[in-house]
Amino acid sequence: MHITRRNTKAIQVGGVKIGGGAPISVQSMTIPHPQDVKATVAQIQELEEAGCELIRVAVPDREAAEALPKIKARMTVPLIADIHFDHRLALQAAAVVDCVRINPGNIGPWWKMAEVVRAVTDHGIPLRLGINGGSLERPLLEKYGYPTAEALAESALNAVHALEDVGFTNLKVSVKASEVHMAVDAYWLFAHQSNYPLHIGITEAGTASTGAVKSAIGLGWLLAHGIGDTLRVSLAADPVEEVRVGFEILKSLELRHRGINVIACPTCGRVEIDVVRMANELEKRLGHIKTPLNVSVLGCVVNGIGEGKEADIGIAGGQGGGILFKKGKLVRKVRSEELMDTLIEEVERMAEEQGEADSRQENRDALPTSLGTPSPALPTVNRDLPVLPNR
Ligand code: SF4
Repeated sequence: MHITRRNTKAIQVGGVKIGGGAPISVQSMTIPHPQDVKATVAQIQELEEAGCELIRVAVPDREAAEALPKIKARMTVPLIADIHFDHRLALQAAAVVDCVRINPGNIGPWWKMAEVVRAVTDHGIPLRLGINGGSLERPLLEKYGYPTAEALAESALNAVHALEDVGFTNLKVSVKASEVHMAVDAYWLFAHQSNYPLHIGITEAGTASTGAVKSAIGLGWLLAHGIGDTLRVSLAADPVEEVRVGFEILKSLELRHRGINVIACPTCGRVEIDVVRMANELEKRLGHIKTPLNVSVLGCVVNGIGEGKEADIGIAGGQGGGILFKKGKLVRKVRSEELMDTLIEEVERMAEEQGEADSRQENRDALPTSLGTPSPALPTVNRDLPVLPNR
């Protein structure tokens, strides 16, 4: 499979470039109320450790906005403020964060959006237009009857064109829905009408397993068609799991090569070690490694080395222990009780030798210098949307 990524405009969220061919970045969102700075920072640190490249924090009230400087001071990856309803929170957050996410469907009249645009321009940060199936503007709901992919795409295009009318283009866009089909169609429609970078996601995807499947299908389809510049996997689970699933989706499509890729055999009647436990333990204990390495855990030596020849390193079970191999070649026999620790030590050594990959890029796009005069209302876009691929 060959993936040609959509050619998008590049924007800069703190130190992370989004769009313009930059690596597809993985983001997540914290759960505690930001007023609980200690809990929020603790979760941010866990997310950073897991490789999360951008972190979004909900800003539901003034207390949350006031906590942002304390949070920002204790994190290293870019911080995004998530704002709904009250545009004044966006004005306050813009002075602190690296990007503001705003939902045009619930922010109110255009002058409020214009004030937000002025604030983010003054602070040199981009805006994410986060369109959601659950909060579409009334005229679009009246036009389409209910949330549809066309309504989502049209809402996003209307907002984009309104911002372009005042000279603002430092933005990324999302058109999320919880139904995979609707989200995929909405992104597809938007992507064929505009070249702004896209934040992709299936909103409220579900629990750790069902949400991961929905996200893998929806985001996988989009990414395989070259659509998507940054992503969030929304799970009703520990946000660290969102990061892990996000990278797994990207690694499966060979769009990112970060960290350990665990290759585990399905086991069969020949199995001699606890492959399931070991593979899970390996993912947990090697989550801090950024260097891309294929690591195998195979149940037996009969077919083990052969089946694991694509791996950089691995173990295969045997009587009373197992073997350690590298690039399909036997290194040495290892006793059962030392198997796991030996593999982990060897992987850490290999990662250190190869050096930790740094995929961050430092290209900064020119920021708009003038906003012009705000329009009195969000203009509607009169256009024919392209035909969907599945109709
Ligand atoms: S590696 Fe061994 S235990 Fe695992 S599936 Fe293959 S033959 Fe079975």
